[in-house]
Amino acid sequence: MVQNRLPEWLRRPMPAGGQFYDTSKTLSELKLETICTNACCPNRGECWKNGTATVLILGNICTRNCRFCSVAKGKPLPPDPTEPARVAQLAVKLNLKYLVITCVDRDDLPDGGAAHFRDVITETRKAVEGIRFEILTGDFRNTQEQALAILETALPFVFGHNIETVPSLYSKARPGGNYQLSLTLLKKAKDMLNCPTKSAMMLGLGEKDEEIEAVLSDLRAVNCDRVSIGQYLRPSKDSLEVVEYVHPDKFDFWAARAKQLGFTWVMSSPFTRSSYHAETETA
Ligand code: SF4
Ligand code: SF4
Repeated sequence: MVQNRLPEWLRRPMPAGGQFYDTSKTLSELKLETICTNACCPNRGECWKNGTATVLILGNICTRNCRFCSVAKGKPLPPDPTEPARVAQLAVKLNLKYLVITCVDRDDLPDGGAAHFRDVITETRKAVEGIRFEILTGDFRNTQEQALAILETALPFVFGHNIETVPSLYSKARPGGNYQLSLTLLKKAKDMLNCPTKSAMMLGLGEKDEEIEAVLSDLRAVNCDRVSIGQYLRPSKDSLEVVEYVHPDKFDFWAARAKQLGFTWVMSSPFTRSSYHAETETA
């Protein structure tokens, strides 16, 4: 059944004010994209007010067509060689200690965009001593090992790749993705990179409890360390409809279950997104 009315627990005012506008102004002056705006994230007010944002690199046009995502689909432009310096300036201006960087899927590039990703991190690290990076990548469909070998040299603090939903919903929600391929990437990342791995999934697309349980087990089977679980919210009228608004108590249940399964960092709530409070030590 499609859900149209937003339940009370998902209604909240959009915070704004000084730091929100500073973050917004800095991003626009530096002509940087964020997943916060491109994915219509409901936490933008809170995160930007706190001076954090998740940078979207390699353009804002994706070669995939996930039906839960509002990022534009099409033929992307070549990577912008000025982007690493602009992200570095952002980190300096916002005095960032922790930065989550994500990207659109770049199936058009031989390395999936990994070298550009590394260049952004290297340049930013030169500008801000001690800054830590959480990277959130696509599945690097045909080039996983090559991409990970490049990203290894960027020394990320956390490597993230989102499993997004249960396998039975992949053809509907993530037609360009492959559940096993995503698990394989997380496994290879754990083996090749010297850092924790992280994944995220959305609830409310019609998945069953036993399927959620199976995804959490599959993630632990590839030694995934961190997990975020949040409510799917339809970002645009062209995106999939919400099937269920999952009650906050159920998110608490999944948080407890994930901890039981051995995840060392867990965030699960209706507003949780993969980068939400990513900088916190534990959850
Ligand atoms: S949760 Fe992540 S994507 Fe959403 S506003 Fe915060 S930093 Fe941006
Ligand atoms: S890969 Fe899917 S979720 Fe990621 S930006 Fe592209 S369309 Fe959106």
